[in-house]
Amino acid sequence: MRRYKRRSAPNCAVMPVVVQKYGGTSVADPERIQKVADRVRDTRMTGNDVVVVVSAMGQTTDELLELAAKVSESPPRRELDMLLSTGERITMALLAMALEARGIPAVSYTGSQAGVLTNSMHGEARITKITGERVRQSLEDGKVVIVAGFQGVDPETKEVTTLGRGGSDATAVALAASLGADHVEIYTDVDGVFTADPRLVPVARKLDEVPFDEMLEMSASGAGVLMTRSVEIGRRYDMPIHVRSSFHDGDGTWVTDAMEQAIVSGVAHDRSEVRITVAGVPNRPGIAARVFGALADARIVVDTIVQNVSHDGTADMSFTVPAAHAAEAERITKEVGAEIGATVEMDDGIGKVSIVGAGMKSQPGVAAKMFMTLAENDIDIEMISTSTIRITCVIRADRIEEAVAALHEAFGLQNGAS
Ligand code: ASP
Ligand code: MG
Repeated sequence: MRRYKRRSAPNCAVMPVVVQKYGGTSVADPERIQKVADRVRDTRMTGNDVVVVVSAMGQTTDELLELAAKVSESPPRRELDMLLSTGERITMALLAMALEARGIPAVSYTGSQAGVLTNSMHGEARITKITGERVRQSLEDGKVVIVAGFQGVDPETKEVTTLGRGGSDATAVALAASLGADHVEIYTDVDGVFTADPRLVPVARKLDEVPFDEMLEMSASGAGVLMTRSVEIGRRYDMPIHVRSSFHDGDGTWVTDAMEQAIVSGVAHDRSEVRITVAGVPNRPGIAARVFGALADARIVVDTIVQNVSHDGTADMSFTVPAAHAAEAERITKEVGAEIGATVEMDDGIGKVSIVGAGMKSQPGVAAKMFMTLAENDIDIEMISTSTIRITCVIRADRIEEAVAALHEAFGLQNGAS
């Protein structure tokens, strides 16, 4: 396994700081919290300062969202954040109690208490700074510090914010960077980052190392193991992320600035988006700007955009949006469509399959091989989008499983051939 040189941060405590993050499944019930407490104690006993970032227990965040939906059709975003931020508070307090019961002094802090400062975007706030005074003070006092993930505070309004789904990862990476840790450990319910989702492709391999750039594309293309923004933060601050299982020991996966350049490192898929098609768009400047401007004003993230010019002077434009924003995006697009005389249709039967690899930059024929593989399996490609190190195809959602398996095999990922 790679070793990393410890960086020297000016106000770093004498002991090395270890930042560990435990996801929802790892703290799903009291027994698992006890196991986490054992692991934290062991890390502490080997002479480390330990900061632990926790997620909400099991499906708590989903349950809280359902609860909100029962009392309101469109809950105010501020109140939603007040509600959702409670999930992580439960875990943090329970873990602190479990540690104290083991004779390990521990203290829990909310995001706000830990000085996780964010902008004002409720539900998708970005961390702007971590002051971390109380965290440092408590470490100096010899305590294990537990921080509620996924939340912060807007320093101007003093309002509590949340960071978006999976946001505890972002808390952990940002906290590790601000504390000058060597690396950050993300404990989860899988053994690491795989060449494809092992539930779909049983022969998928665990990767020992993944460069930040590739991980960024994989996360953004649906690989659920790390929140995309946490990878961005890791890359910006050059903070290696060690993804490992909380259930058994193993080497996990290091996400780093490693130089290794596989042509294709992995296949990712995403069934969480829908497609909106605007047909009969008049062929004049400013129309696309209008459609996407309206969506941007509603803070809806648009992906994969395709436009076809037709012979009669109009064009068809398609794009994908997260299913969670489907209804709103459809409504907004229909409003614009009505103004410009175009028709709007939504399709929720799509899925995306992506291949990712930094080496494809300098390798011809990768796209051709992907399309050929899909064609051989009689899978129709409906849209294509690319970055320098990713190719994504939109296909029918019910063909995703076959597509992932076929691409995984075609690019020799099961034996590390690519
Ligand atoms: N509890 C939040 C979620 O389920 C944040 C996290 O788990 O990282 O999205
Ligand atoms: Mg997670």
